[in-house]
Amino acid sequence: MQPTYSFIVPVFNEEATLVELYRRLSAVMDSMDGTVELVLVDDGSHDRSLTIMRDLRERDRRVCYLSFARNFGHQIAVTAGLNFVRGQAIVVLDADLQDPPELIPELADKWRRGYDVVYAQRVQRHQEGWFKRLTAYVFYRLLRQLADVEMPTDTGDFCLMDRRVVDALNAMPERNRYIRGLRSWLGFRQIAIPFERDSRFAGEVKYTFRKSLALAIDGLVSFSKVPLRISTYVGLFAAVVAIVMAILVLYWRFVSPVSPLTGFATIAVAIFFLGAVQLFSIGILGEYIGRIYEEVKNRPVYILGEVSGFDGMTARQGTTLNTSKDPVIDARRRLL
Ligand code: UDP
Ligand code: MG
Repeated sequence: MQPTYSFIVPVFNEEATLVELYRRLSAVMDSMDGTVELVLVDDGSHDRSLTIMRDLRERDRRVCYLSFARNFGHQIAVTAGLNFVRGQAIVVLDADLQDPPELIPELADKWRRGYDVVYAQRVQRHQEGWFKRLTAYVFYRLLRQLADVEMPTDTGDFCLMDRRVVDALNAMPERNRYIRGLRSWLGFRQIAIPFERDSRFAGEVKYTFRKSLALAIDGLVSFSKVPLRISTYVGLFAAVVAIVMAILVLYWRFVSPVSPLTGFATIAVAIFFLGAVQLFSIGILGEYIGRIYEEVKNRPVYILGEVSGFDGMTARQGTTLNTSKDPVIDARRRLL
């Protein structure tokens, strides 16, 4: 039997929030105008998260879960959830209750009115530190400027998507998954719903600065070729500077009675400047080439260690995602 709604929650070391999350979500599930499945995706937690998920499954058959063999990252956890869900409308939300579950009926209402993607847009994020707020503010605006497609600012993965949107996402073979970008890229009828982002219910932030930076670079590199052009522009600029310098040097040598050329210092600065420009350009190239390499290796996007609630089904997924018939056996084989 297929549920009307599927809720996907990526979970990484969230033992402190899971019970409260379930309490608030199950109230919302009871109030929905259709059947609901709750898909928890354990992203290789090393606390009691998986045990709690097993308990929840025992208590409530609407709860299903997937558990990764190791930590693959938030975007991949959401990807796995999208591969397995069976609902007609799919909601993605964080486990830490920063995305209020009580907003879901509002998202569903818009879906009922014919929208394919209903995403929640943060109008306030009082609860987060100034550094996170500043970097997020700058990043979303930079991405909007540089991206090839229209990217709404200040939206995370908290959203509702129609089945056909999820099918289209699942058919995208790329393993570099900046989901909120792919979602915008797809088009369909999209609408934003403003909301205030709460503070984390309990536990530590799981998105370390490194993970956030990696996500930001993923977003930029996946949706813009502008960084590649930066080296062309800087190269042109350096060429102009070199020509002006050459003319000046000739003038000082043959026309001017006094030569202000300083020698070593000038040369050293020029060499360091050009060296820096070249390394920076190579770094940008590397970002793109590294991603090509990842795609070409064609490894599965994630490895499942345990699955419950999806008996007899394999994931609906893109051609190059985990292709094994039985994900559990597949994981065992790989782990041994
Ligand atoms: N998360 C995950 N894998 C990771 C990091 C985070 O599945 O490697 C989950 C985490 O459990 C939470 C969500 O992603 O449900 C958002 O993480 P967090 O609240 O730490 O980050 P925020 O976006 O709020 O800064
Ligand atoms: Mg959070």
